[in-house]
Amino acid sequence: MEDCLRLDKITKTYQDINGETMAIADFSYSFKKGTFVSIVGPSGCGKSTLLSIISGLETQSSGTIFMDNSVLHNNKCNIGYMLQKDYLLGWRTVYQNILLGIEIRKMISPKTLAYADELLHKYDLYEFKDSYPSQLSGGMRQRVALIRTLTVNPDILLLDEAFSALDYQTRLTVADDVFKIIKAEGKTTIMVTHDIPESVSMSDEVIVLSNRPSKIKSVHKIHFNMENRTPLTCRDQPEFSKYFDCIWKELNSNG
Ligand code: ADP
Ligand code: MG
Repeated sequence: MEDCLRLDKITKTYQDINGETMAIADFSYSFKKGTFVSIVGPSGCGKSTLLSIISGLETQSSGTIFMDNSVLHNNKCNIGYMLQKDYLLGWRTVYQNILLGIEIRKMISPKTLAYADELLHKYDLYEFKDSYPSQLSGGMRQRVALIRTLTVNPDILLLDEAFSALDYQTRLTVADDVFKIIKAEGKTTIMVTHDIPESVSMSDEVIVLSNRPSKIKSVHKIHFNMENRTPLTCRDQPEFSKYFDCIWKELNSNG
């Protein structure tokens, strides 16, 4: 499979009035096109920092990022970011929220508007296009946030604890929903989570990070012996608990 994004020997040290904090010691990884990769690790180990570097919000202290085999300068590539909070604007309708990304990037054109419409229809949001975020359930709001992210047609989708504000039941169904949309659109996705079952149920690969400063402790390739796996259906598979146990042990071993 083709490399989409490659991180080579990335390190990150923050400097502030309290001194230096080394968040990332050494991170090298090739993310393949169309795959879903999760990153799990202890709180404060540098997971969000890694996504910030990929998105260009932060700059690495050393190391190189490659996109489609070319060096990425100033980390400028087309990234979609989904966070724990949906950041929908309450005074804008669903439709106006969905256009926000392409508006900010000055990408409004007949083509991008048609794509936004296509996504609204395809993912059952069209009838809610004139509703306001406050009229929607938490799950529906996350779907709107995802569609807004997809409207800019990102090369890579980053999810940072995107479901952790939802209650357990909603979280399972929203993760299922988001997964199906991401797969249907064929997006390469990197998800940060502290929830092992969530990472196993959604991913092709799970990267376990060490305590700060983070390094890769292990990588787990996830495969279920079933066709058309979804996060909900693969939870019943015998391999599920095997992957869970293995990643749990890794996370809780020293380092
Ligand atoms: P995680 O997402 O794994 O919980 P973060 O990437 O948010 O961890 O943070 C990793 C470490 O870097 C933490 O010790 C945090 O306090 C520190 N850190 C994060 N952002 C900054 C910043 N802007 N300035 C200084 N230190 C930071
Ligand atoms: Mg974080």
